Amino acid sequence: MIKTGTINIIVRGLANMAKLNTQPEIKYTQLFINNEFVNSVSSKTFPTINPCTGQKICEVQEGDKADVDIAVKAAQEAFNLGSPWRRLDASKRAKMMVKLADLLKENKDYLSALETLDNGMPYFESEMWVDSIADTLTYYAGWCDKIHGKTIPLDGDYFCYTKLEPVGVCGAIIPWNYPIDMLGWKLGPAIACGNTMVIKPAEQTPLTAIFIGSLIKEAGFPPGVINIIPGYGPTAGAAISEHMDVDKVAFTGSTEVGHLIQQAAGKSNLKRVSLEMGGKSPNIVFADSDVDFAVDEAHEAVFCNVGQCCSAGSRTFVQEGIYDEFVKKSVQKANARVIGDPYVDGTQSGPQIDQEQFDKVLGKIESGKKDGATLSCGGSRHGDKGYFLQSTVFSDVTDDMTIAKEEIFGPVQVILKFKNIEEVIERAHKTHYGLAGAVFTKDIDVAMTVAHSLKAGTVWVNCYNVGGPSIPFGGYKQSGFGRDLGEDSLKEYHEVKTVIIKVPQKNS
Ligand code: NAP
Ligand code: MG
Repeated sequence: MIKTGTINIIVRGLANMAKLNTQPEIKYTQLFINNEFVNSVSSKTFPTINPCTGQKICEVQEGDKADVDIAVKAAQEAFNLGSPWRRLDASKRAKMMVKLADLLKENKDYLSALETLDNGMPYFESEMWVDSIADTLTYYAGWCDKIHGKTIPLDGDYFCYTKLEPVGVCGAIIPWNYPIDMLGWKLGPAIACGNTMVIKPAEQTPLTAIFIGSLIKEAGFPPGVINIIPGYGPTAGAAISEHMDVDKVAFTGSTEVGHLIQQAAGKSNLKRVSLEMGGKSPNIVFADSDVDFAVDEAHEAVFCNVGQCCSAGSRTFVQEGIYDEFVKKSVQKANARVIGDPYVDGTQSGPQIDQEQFDKVLGKIESGKKDGATLSCGGSRHGDKGYFLQSTVFSDVTDDMTIAKEEIFGPVQVILKFKNIEEVIERAHKTHYGLAGAVFTKDIDVAMTVAHSLKAGTVWVNCYNVGGPSIPFGGYKQSGFGRDLGEDSLKEYHEVKTVIIKVPQKNS
């Protein structure tokens, strides 16, 4: 969900246009266990839907508890001491990760087309996320032989050292909003630390993860190291979070499900948990900002991925003095946003992921109107098929309105007015979320006061959604705990073992 640099529409040549119009062939639809594609134990299947049309793309094998049990056993065996994976030198593990990154890049056209088909995001964004997962894996490959402990002075005739060991079998439960990138966020640090994995992609977007299974095998990972189980949350997902032999679970998704995962860990084996969940992030624009620039950034902060972004700047606070100008320019920008076929060059927004999200966002728009906010533009379906929504802007929004309190996860900008810094900081904290925030100002004192005051995992100053593989990302409060990316994420995936040795002392 984090862009590396500013998102620009990529201008392509004619050769690429042909590629854009080609719908990809579906090569794999099964579970990936022990480096083999297999049917689920029940042989049940579920449909994955093209959100642009509402039509079925294909049926996918549906994994549930029985399949998770098999995958966990495979991952345990792959993790056993003396297994090829545990005997592999860290430097060779790094080479395998780089090989996988190279294969992802080699298959970029296919993977991008597949992601756009299953998720609906514009093709150029899918391409960006394929680059991003390759970068993430390459970054973590660099860590493989740098994950080491310390020697620590201890009173008495002892020698003490710590050793960082992999946790074991790591479950990863992936959301549908950035399927490829979120896979990389979990895969990179888990594999760099030497763990094995059972991964459940989101039910709405299983296709790219399953295809990546074939690349994992080609990259040379031993059987059982990485297993992929498409299926539903309450069955396959819950089977992972409740499993007595899963040592850690990493989750990105809704706060509601995050609670369930934490409870399942508590009721089972107290597995380690890291949770990256939703947000209602304040984007605070002071009157001394470059207004045009702030409008552009605030627009992208909300509308990127049609609002389906956990770090979306979903509360735009604008200081009085520039408020009316800011709203006017935000409306112009929203009205100019190109919504449509994600395979067509120039498209900036595709559809919502499914009927449920489409209905949910429309429901939030209705609540905004009912609560008395001004609907400045949009507010309805776009087109006549699929799950497309108009880019929507609400102004005159107050803190008590549902659209100012709840995560919308759709293309809806909510613009609130504020007077001064003390007031806006207090209002920014009126949420149980704490994922991200931003401040736009030319005053360094104001920028730093806001940045240091916000209870949020990331604060951007005069930019939004900027990051990269080396930059930790995660939440305060009910946006979660633990960090994805960067060196900090490695802590989620290794144990610290302390070894103390009695050292015989020679009498002199
Ligand atoms: P979700 O249910 O939290 O889905 C995220 C992942 O968790 C999916 O793989 C899902 O499986 C799985 N899951 C669902 N129930 C589970 C359970 N009981 N145990 C274990 N895993 C389970 O999110 P959603 O329903 O798709 O979206 C609802 C809202 O969540 C959105 O409107 C948005 O507010 C938020 N969301 C946030 C993010 C984020 O990046 N932080 C991402 C997605 C959604 P299924 O595939 O079967 O659902
Ligand atoms: Mg789909």
